[in-house]
Amino acid sequence: MGIIVQKFGGTSVGSVERILHVAQRVIQEKNAGHDVVVVVSAMGKSTDQLVDLANQISSKPSKREMDMLLTTGEQVTISLLSMALAEKGYEATSFTGWQAGVETEASHGNARILNIQTENVKTELSKGKIVVVAGFQGVSEDGQITTLGRGGSDTTAVALAAALKAEKCDIYTDVTGVYTTDPRCVKSARKLESISYDEMLELANLGAGVLHPRAVEFAKNYQVALEVRSSMENERGTLIEEESSMEQNLVVRGIAFEDQVTRVSVLGLPNELTTLSTIFTTLATNGVNVDIIIQNTTSDLKTSISFSVKTNALEDTISILEQHKSILQFDKIESESQLAKVSIVGSGMVSNPGVAAEMFDVLANEGIQVKMVSTSEIKVSTVVDQVHMVDAVNALHDAFELSKEVASV
Ligand code: ASP
Ligand code: MG
Repeated sequence: MGIIVQKFGGTSVGSVERILHVAQRVIQEKNAGHDVVVVVSAMGKSTDQLVDLANQISSKPSKREMDMLLTTGEQVTISLLSMALAEKGYEATSFTGWQAGVETEASHGNARILNIQTENVKTELSKGKIVVVAGFQGVSEDGQITTLGRGGSDTTAVALAAALKAEKCDIYTDVTGVYTTDPRCVKSARKLESISYDEMLELANLGAGVLHPRAVEFAKNYQVALEVRSSMENERGTLIEEESSMEQNLVVRGIAFEDQVTRVSVLGLPNELTTLSTIFTTLATNGVNVDIIIQNTTSDLKTSISFSVKTNALEDTISILEQHKSILQFDKIESESQLAKVSIVGSGMVSNPGVAAEMFDVLANEGIQVKMVSTSEIKVSTVVDQVHMVDAVNALHDAFELSKEVASV
């Protein structure tokens, strides 16, 4: 039998009892004859608590020191889980990211994994040991400790599974799988048996918090078989695979949403060839992440541009635009907060025209105004008032019949 990578998130290792329970899940796989590599997150909300400590000392702590601080969270879990395994009679070795050979870009806070040197892990496995790796962390070429961005332990697990050519990668979490939408907002939300990499990638990018988007990207690029499942319940989870065979006839497979969206409008810009590139280059080089963009040309001479940002980026966005007013030459900036993005996702859209039209129709019937739209081959995103977000999601979930079981094919 081959290698299995198991990843346990913060809630799943949130207390000593839970760590002992996780040890049992690890032992099950070991007893089934697998070589087992376990990737863990920091216990419970401890990463948030570390961020909070740093913020009590500095409003702008150095990114290097932040990484040094945050990586301690995962180190607590790897050692405790290894001790728990030893207590139960199973030999385990814990590794930090750098000991496990996780090499990343030389940037702090959101580094990408470049390569994994698997020798240390393989050596321990060959001795029959269980290997427990700290998620979310790596080392740059110049020897600095880096982190992969919040939620990045998923990516550690999938990258390790790819590098070790593991049979599969199980992501254990506090939900039982990937749902058609968030069951906390829609009662009839249904667990999916399977979903394709592309659909999962859209959902993850559009705010479904269940998986780190980069983990899905990795899984797709290296064809890692992924399963999202519960660390508490013993039921099957959701398979993430190349083409989801079970439900391929469904046009819409899931609905994602996020609040705290703001629309920024820059009015009275000169209608020139370089206007768009100048404004968005200015924002990008200053680290502002822009989402949906709409251009509205009002006359031969003037144009205006609206775009959406996360609400917490509004202040920065406006101050950057104001600082560059003499180059950008706009008349004024307007903004509207308290908005939300609601998106439908499904690979069946590629071959089914009219999905966006149906979405607008459903929202119009609910009296919900659509303020911005963006589409890709397999998704349609709309921006609506935040107060209507949950209603919009429920109406769409009904209209596209997402709660219906789909017969296997
Ligand atoms: N502990 C990190 C976080 O809370 C990484 C992770 O859990 O995936 O973001
Ligand atoms: Mg997570």
